[in-house]
Amino acid sequence: CGIFAYLNYHIPRTRREILEILLKGLRRLEYRGYDSAGVGIDGGNSKDWEKNGKSIQLIKKQGKVKALDEEINKQQDMDMDVEFDIHLGIAHTRWATHGEPSPVNCHPQRSDKNNEFIVIHNGIITNYKDLRKFLESKGYEFESETDTETIAKLVKYMYDNRESDDISFITLVERVTQQLEGAFALVFKSIHFPGEAVGTRRGGPLLIGVHSAHKLSTDHIPILYRTAGKDKKGCSALPRVDSTTCLFPIDEKGVEYYFASDASAVIEHTNQVIFLEDDDVAAVSEGRLSIHRIKRIVGDHPARAIQTLQ
Ligand code: GLU
Repeated sequence: CGIFAYLNYHIPRTRREILEILLKGLRRLEYRGYDSAGVGIDGGNSKDWEKNGKSIQLIKKQGKVKALDEEINKQQDMDMDVEFDIHLGIAHTRWATHGEPSPVNCHPQRSDKNNEFIVIHNGIITNYKDLRKFLESKGYEFESETDTETIAKLVKYMYDNRESDDISFITLVERVTQQLEGAFALVFKSIHFPGEAVGTRRGGPLLIGVHSAHKLSTDHIPILYRTAGKDKKGCSALPRVDSTTCLFPIDEKGVEYYFASDASAVIEHTNQVIFLEDDDVAAVSEGRLSIHRIKRIVGDHPARAIQTLQ
C-alpha cells in the first residue's frame, strides 16, 4: 500500500540513520492504511559497502510501523553504527489483497532463502497464478500466498537464465514487467547489484525524489523531462517530453534518491521530484538515474510468452 526507498550514493550514512529515514518515510504514508510493514537493507557489518551489499537483511512485522520499529530494535546482530558510503534500503506498508496479513506475507517479498532479489509492491498482479505455476514447474519454491512473491521469483528466473554476465538490473526488471498483468508500483533490490535500485509502475503511483548539490534543470535532464511549475505539494514536477532515456549525472558531492508512492514521504528531503508514468522503468546505477519507457509486448498471454523465453 505504501512504498518508500532510500539510496545514498557517496553520502556516508550509518545503518541507524538509514533505518530512521526508512521508518520516517513509512510513517508519512501511514494515512493510507495498512496491516503490516517491512524493510530490506544490506546485511553485512563490514566497513566495505560492497561486501555489506552481498547480503540482504529483511525485517518484517504485522501491525503498525511502531511494531516494526520495535522489531528493528530487537535485532541483536546488526551493528547500527556501521557506515555505508553507498546503500539502498527499501520499505513497505502492506494492505493485503492476496494472502492474509502474516509475517511471511509481508513485503519485501524475496526470490529465495538467500534474499538474492527482494521487491516491494503496491497493487495486484492478476496473472500471478499462471506465473506461479510456470515458476513452480521450473523448481522455484514459494513460501507466501502473495501475488508479489511471483515477481521476486520471476526476476531471479530472468537472472538465472541470463544470456550474459554483464546483464543490467534494469534489463532484468524490464523483462519481468513484460510478463506482468494488473496494476503495480515496484521497487527492487538485489545482492547481485549492491547500491543499485530499480523501480517501475503501471497503474500505481511511483515517484523519485533527487537530492544533490546540483539543482535539477534542463541541462541535467537534457532529453526526457523538463522542469515545470510547482504542484500543489510544492514539488517541482518534471513532466515528460519525448524520448526514452533520462540520465541524471553523478554529483561529486554525492547524491540521494528517494522512491515513494506519495510525495508527502519525500518532501522533507527534497522538492525535486520526477513522477514516473506507466511502463517507465527507472534505475539508479553508479549514482546515475536513468529512465526507460518500455514498449509493452501485446498479444499472447504473458504466461505463454514466458514459456517461449526459456
Ligand atoms: N497484492 C500485494 C499483496 O497482497 C500488495 C498489496 C499492497 O498494495 O499493499 O501482498
